[in-house]
Amino acid sequence: MSEHYDVIIIGTGAGGGTLANVLGRAGKRTLLLERGNFLPREKENWDPDQVRANGRYVSRDTWYDGEGRPFQPKVYYFVGGATKMYGAALYRLRPGDFGELRHVDGLSPAWPLGYDDFEPWYTRAEWLYQVHGTHGEDPTEGHWSKDYPWPAVSHERSIQQLSDDLERAGYHPFSAPCGILLDEANRQRSACIRCGTCDGFPCLLHAKSDAEVIGVRPVLDLDNVTLVVDAEVQRLTTGPSGRAVTGVVVSHAGETVTYRGDVVVLAAGAVNTARILLRSASGAHPAGLANASGQVGRNYMTHNSSPVVVIAKEPNHTAFQKTLGLNDFYFAGDGRPWPLGNIQMVGKSSMAARRAELPAEVAGHAVDFWLTTEDLPRPDNRVTVDRDGNVHLAYQVTNQPAADGLRRELTTAMSRIGIAADRVLDQNSLPHNPLAGVAHQAGTCRFGADPATSVLDLNCKAHELDNLYVADASFLPSVGAVNPALTVMANAIRVGEHLLERLS
Ligand SMILES: Cc1cc2nc3c(=O)[nH]c(=O)nc-3n(C[C@H](O)[C@H](O)[C@H](O)COP(=O)(O)OP(=O)(O)OC[C@H]3O[C@@H](n4cnc5c(N)ncnc54)[C@H](O)[C@@H]3O)c2cc1C
Repeated sequence: MSEHYDVIIIGTGAGGGTLANVLGRAGKRTLLLERGNFLPREKENWDPDQVRANGRYVSRDTWYDGEGRPFQPKVYYFVGGATKMYGAALYRLRPGDFGELRHVDGLSPAWPLGYDDFEPWYTRAEWLYQVHGTHGEDPTEGHWSKDYPWPAVSHERSIQQLSDDLERAGYHPFSAPCGILLDEANRQRSACIRCGTCDGFPCLLHAKSDAEVIGVRPVLDLDNVTLVVDAEVQRLTTGPSGRAVTGVVVSHAGETVTYRGDVVVLAAGAVNTARILLRSASGAHPAGLANASGQVGRNYMTHNSSPVVVIAKEPNHTAFQKTLGLNDFYFAGDGRPWPLGNIQMVGKSSMAARRAELPAEVAGHAVDFWLTTEDLPRPDNRVTVDRDGNVHLAYQVTNQPAADGLRRELTTAMSRIGIAADRVLDQNSLPHNPLAGVAHQAGTCRFGADPATSVLDLNCKAHELDNLYVADASFLPSVGAVNPALTVMANAIRVGEHLLERLS
C-alpha cells in the first residue's frame, strides 16, 4: 500500500468509531480498519427469534476457556462494534469509582486520573452521543459542567408509579441516561419511535446513538477518512529498534495487505486488542507487543450482572422500560460493608425474551430489572493466545456475595413498596455460559503511570512504543458497576485531542 496515513484506527466501535469522528472532523488522514461489515438494515433486526434464539448477528468465533474447552463468545463484528447491539444506557462512572474501593472479594484499584480529569470528556461524549438524562437526581453522581443535551426520556405510567413508590419509601430512583435520537417534544422530527427494542438488538431506524450512526457515518464522506471493511488485523510489525509500529498486517478479501501510518490506535475491543498485541510477538517484543510487563491480556473484567423479574400487582404495559435507575446500594454504607452495585431496567426486547420463560398468567405483570455488581481486575482472569492465534479466556467471576446482596436489597425494596417478595423471580438459574457474556469486556491493557504494572501511559500510549495507542475498553483499570460505553467514548475523545496536539 503506497498511501500513508496520519492515524490508522483498528476497530470502529465505541472507542474506534468515536476517535474516528474526532480525528476525521479535524482533517487528519485517517484509515479505519474494521473486521466486520455494515450491519444490514433488515426486518430481522427486530425479530427476537432471529436475534436471540438464532444469534443472527453473533460472530462465528470460537474461543477457549481456561481449561481449553471451546465456546462461542457473544461478540459482534460490525461497523459500530458492540454498540450496534447495546442498550445505549450511557452512564458516567461515579467519582468514587476512580478511587480505591474495598469490595467483598478484594480491592478495586484507584485510577491514575480522577473523575475531575474525565468530567470534560464525559460532557463531550454526552453531547456527541445525544444523551437524554437529568443531572442531580442520583446522589452517587459526580459534578457536571453542562446539562445533558436532551431531557430525560419520560417514564411510562407503570415506571412512573414505580419511581413514585420507591421515592415515598425513601429510595432515590433517577432517570436513567440513554443515548437515543428521540425528540419527545416534536414526534414528527424524532427518529426514535420509543419502541424500546434498542437493548440487545440493532436499531432498524438508525435511531440509537451507536458508534456507526454517531461516530463513523458522519465522517465517511470526508476525503481525509477511509474505511476498509472486512479487514481483519492480524498483527502489527515494528522496525529493528522495536520502538515504533511500522506496519499493520491485515487479511482482506483473501489477501494479506500491510498498511502504514504515523500513529496506530488499537480499538478492537478488550479481548481482540490483547489478541493482536500477543500475536505481534517479535525479537524485540518476545512476549507480545508492548508486553515486557507481562500485563497484556491480564485483568480481564466484565460485570457480575443478572436479570431479575418482579411480578407486580398491576399489569405492566410499558414499551420503553429502560428509563429508571437506582444507585442506593452502589457504595458501602447504611450498614452495608461493601459496595453492591447498580439497578436498572431492561429494554422491551430483552424483556420479551425473559417473559417467554414465565407462566402466562404472570408474564403481563412482569417488571424487568438488570442488576450489576462490579467485577474486580484479577491478574489470572486473562486473555492468552495459542500457537494458532486462538483466544483463550481464563475467567472466574468475582464479588458474588455482593451480587447476591444486591438482589436481596431489590427484594426488600419491592416488598416495601407492596410487591410481595415471594413474587420476585430470579432467572439466574437459566442455562447460560458466563464466559460467553463478553458484552462488557474490559481491562486487558490498563493505563497507569508505572510501566511495570500497566500497559499504557496516561495518554493511552503503549509505554514501550512511540506511536502505538489503545482507545477501547482495554484501558480501564477498574470497571465500576455502571455500563462502560460512555467511559470508553469519553476516553476516546480524550485520546483524540491528545493525538491532534501531537500531530500538529
Ligand atoms: C448486547 C449488548 C448490550 C450492551 N449494552 C450496553 C449499554 O446499555 N450501555 C453501555 O454502556 N454498554 C453496553 N454494552 C457494552 C458496550 O457496547 C461496550 O462496552 C463498548 O462497545 C466497548 O467498546 P470497544 O471500543 O472496547 O469495543 P467494540 O465497541 O466492540 O468495538 C470493537 C471493534 O473492533 C472490531 N475488531 C475486532 N477485532 C478486529 C480485528 N482483528 N481487526 C479489525 N477490527 C476488529 C470489531 O468488529 C468492533 O467493531 C453492551 C454490549 C452488548 C453486546
